[in-house]
Amino acid sequence: MARFADVPEAPKDPILGISELFLADTSSDKMNLGVGAYRDDNGKPQVLKCVREAEKRIAGNFNMEYLPTNGFKDFIKHSLDLAYGEDSEAVKSGSIAAVQSLSGTGSCRLLAEFQKRFMPGCTVYISVPTWSNHHNIWRDAGCEQTTYRYYKESTRGLDFEGMMEDINNAPNGSMFLLHACAHNPTGVDPSAEQWREISKAMKAKNHFAFFDMAYQGFASGDCVRDAQSIRIFAEDGHKFALAQSFAKNMGLYGQRIGTVSVMCEDKAEAVRVESQLKVIARAMYSNPPMHGALIASTILGDPALKAQWYVEVKEMADRIITMRTLLRKHLEDSGSKLPWQHVTDQIGMFCYSGMAPEQVDKLRTDHHIYMTRNGRISMAGVTSGNVERLAKAMHEVTK
Ligand code: PMP
Repeated sequence: MARFADVPEAPKDPILGISELFLADTSSDKMNLGVGAYRDDNGKPQVLKCVREAEKRIAGNFNMEYLPTNGFKDFIKHSLDLAYGEDSEAVKSGSIAAVQSLSGTGSCRLLAEFQKRFMPGCTVYISVPTWSNHHNIWRDAGCEQTTYRYYKESTRGLDFEGMMEDINNAPNGSMFLLHACAHNPTGVDPSAEQWREISKAMKAKNHFAFFDMAYQGFASGDCVRDAQSIRIFAEDGHKFALAQSFAKNMGLYGQRIGTVSVMCEDKAEAVRVESQLKVIARAMYSNPPMHGALIASTILGDPALKAQWYVEVKEMADRIITMRTLLRKHLEDSGSKLPWQHVTDQIGMFCYSGMAPEQVDKLRTDHHIYMTRNGRISMAGVTSGNVERLAKAMHEVTK
């Protein structure tokens, strides 16, 4: 008998499975709004100018040795400054354990493994809905997971009361996985005032916050504004953990570049926690890739390049915001009687359209438009050339 006769075929990933279907479609005007990867207004992948400049500076000037298990020191320092703020006492005091990770996914995985080893009995609370891979990551790490309310279908906005109730009802010391900004897939974020209340409630319950920040700068176009949630928690004295990804905001998707950090009581605790993160990383992949770390630290370490990066992040964020306005306008112009205000209210890369799975299927079969079956549209794939066709097709299937 064949050795692997009993291995069943795994179900397709809901996001990457869409890309496979898209590739197989031979239509010339097919549209991939599934995967969250930025496209320029011609629908092409974009490499930022600051990244190209950093690459020129790097080329020929570095060897190809291994990085240490915890990654490139300069990159980590710049990464923490970007997230926590350059005047962050926690960063200055060295009380944050941090390692370079394999982008946002790898950050989550390292933290989940750390939780499994050092936070026994701690359940992670995950928002409904969330980025589908969160469930896989905590499942594979062997952690207990449950959910908290986040999104209210009736308002297509935040279920703030539900979320607060779930925070208050969770056993003391639970872990809450929070999206720092540009919640995926809903595009619905708490306001600053709501973050303050969430922070207070979580403090009172001694909950541990784990912020997944995959979109800093990409949501509003302003890296400081997009970090407001974590800065509020830091001000309130939380000791939280943070996953950072440079996939979207620097367009470094395939470079797998990010940082995972854990705020500790003091430097000595940070040294111990960091040593354990290294032990986990060592067995999983030994050490992280170098090229992306060099690119990101070259940009973040040079004031002029960093300023250019800020401009380019804002351009990407602004293009998406413009597409939201156009999509809503074309939907309304098409004669749709449905409310579409949420298209412009939501922020970040995704529009949680409210379309049902059958309507999404019809978009695919009748219009060659691809998106995940939860109705999530990657706004980054919408362009001035395809937005009207998208709106008309959406109107067709939601009539
Ligand atoms: N977290 C969230 C919420 C995301 O949306 C994403 C990207 N889709 C990630 C993490 C991870 O992305 P990456 O591993 O490419 O940084």
